[in-house]
Amino acid sequence: MNKNKTAYIRNVLVNKMEDLRTSADHTILKLKKSDDKFPDPFDQAAVEASKVVELNCRGKELNLLLDIKETILRIDRGLFGICDHCGRPISEKRLMAAPMSKLCVMCQEEIESQRKKSKRRHQYSYRISYNHA
Ligand SMILES: [Zn+2]
Repeated sequence: MNKNKTAYIRNVLVNKMEDLRTSADHTILKLKKSDDKFPDPFDQAAVEASKVVELNCRGKELNLLLDIKETILRIDRGLFGICDHCGRPISEKRLMAAPMSKLCVMCQEEIESQRKKSKRRHQYSYRISYNHA
């Protein structure tokens, strides 16, 4: 991938990172504001439950933020677009669609098929041990 396109992707990622940070700041403010205690335990429980949902959602965003940071680091270190598994270049088409890809299509498919196989094997061994029990 040429420098202009890489710089473009880096820019998109930096902007996305800023957006995520701003929304995380808003969440913290919101959670602090909603820290009031309610006399009714059901109201209190509802408030606590909505906080949990909010925090779970933020957990996913934090993971995304970490992925973005890692990708920016890969760009800065000249590792962007190189497959972590085989060291061959990742196709430009794939990088434009999913800039945070660390694997080429072939390695990704290979790893996914291995995962499926080991999952099937795992399920099968469960069945066997179940029959023996
Ligand atoms: Zn690969």
